[in-house]
Amino acid sequence: MKFGRALTLIDFCNSIFCLYYLNMKQLIVRNIIEPNGSKKGRCLACGATLKTARRKYCSMECRKRLLYKLDVRTGLIRALNAKYATFYFSEVMIIMDMLPYGSEQIFSFFYPRSPGSKPAEDFSRMADMLGNIWWNERKRTNKRYLASFHLLGKAVKTGAPLISVKPSMVKVPSIKATHLSHLKLDKAQLNAAELQKSVKEAYRRQAKVHHPDLGGDAATFRKLHQAYRELTSWARRPSFTKRRGFPDKWFYDGRTNKWVQPIPSQMQR
Ligand SMILES: [Zn+2]
Repeated sequence: MKFGRALTLIDFCNSIFCLYYLNMKQLIVRNIIEPNGSKKGRCLACGATLKTARRKYCSMECRKRLLYKLDVRTGLIRALNAKYATFYFSEVMIIMDMLPYGSEQIFSFFYPRSPGSKPAEDFSRMADMLGNIWWNERKRTNKRYLASFHLLGKAVKTGAPLISVKPSMVKVPSIKATHLSHLKLDKAQLNAAELQKSVKEAYRRQAKVHHPDLGGDAATFRKLHQAYRELTSWARRPSFTKRRGFPDKWFYDGRTNKWVQPIPSQMQR
């Protein structure tokens, strides 16, 4: 590593720290994004500790901000001819894994987190840096494919199995998340053996709080009642939509040129 210049991604990945993080990669990500055994979760967009395990994001704004930042940089990912990509982060680094079309190998880009920055901001910085490397090579050679080849050469080949960026189809219950939150139910509870019964119980619990006769707010109670009706009819005939993605990573699909947020784990029904 030369002195007198900023630490670049390449320096960073050539450094011994990167090798350390590489080994720690799975462990760190699991600890941060899916804290097993812990009641408290982390926001899937910024990593902040959440008050309840039921929530996935600290706010919808936070989720939207990261999606937006990811989506404005799809030009770079397209230049690299990515079929699939994933984005995830720990407290010390952000990681983008990528599978180009026709490739049997995953290319990983690591970038250190800046103190006080959100993963979305760190992603923009990494994308700027990678974009500069690409443009400089494009100017030098006047060839897009050479620039892309050059940039992929800077990535780390971890030898991770293709399945880590190639998602399987996941069945997601076609039910509005707001209905569940009105009844204070968890998506996982949709697997309950006697779902209709537990929906009714959840409704009774919430009605005690929100019924206007008991001092509750009429509008809130109406929403609660509608959620109850929709969930009981869903319980009679459960329906699902198929989605691609990962529970703990943001996923880019080359066919749609869009990023999608982490999706719930596979339903058992
Ligand atoms: Zn957040």
